[in-house]
Amino acid sequence: MFVERNNQYSVVCHTRVAEDCLENGKWFDSEEEAQDWVEEECWIFSGEGWICLKCNAHFMRNLSQTRRDKGLDSLLPDGWDDDLEVGINTVR
Ligand SMILES: [Zn+2]
Repeated sequence: MFVERNNQYSVVCHTRVAEDCLENGKWFDSEEEAQDWVEEECWIFSGEGWICLKCNAHFMRNLSQTRRDKGLDSLLPDGWDDDLEVGINTVR
């Protein structure tokens, strides 16, 4: 999950699915510092590797897209979200 170049280390994005994927983090003298940096940047650790913010956002968009396609959300006006539906169900 690290890449080394000229004795500098950087954390590599594990998935690289987003078109604007950051691909790797900042370069540091040690792997520890490189990992500290991605933690501070709120990269997501998947268990196999780190996922950059751009790819994480990409996954989130796809998740909501999938849910929308499967459910009845597409029949509802734009702007309706799950919280609103839950609220309506409670009223019923
Ligand atoms: Zn990425």
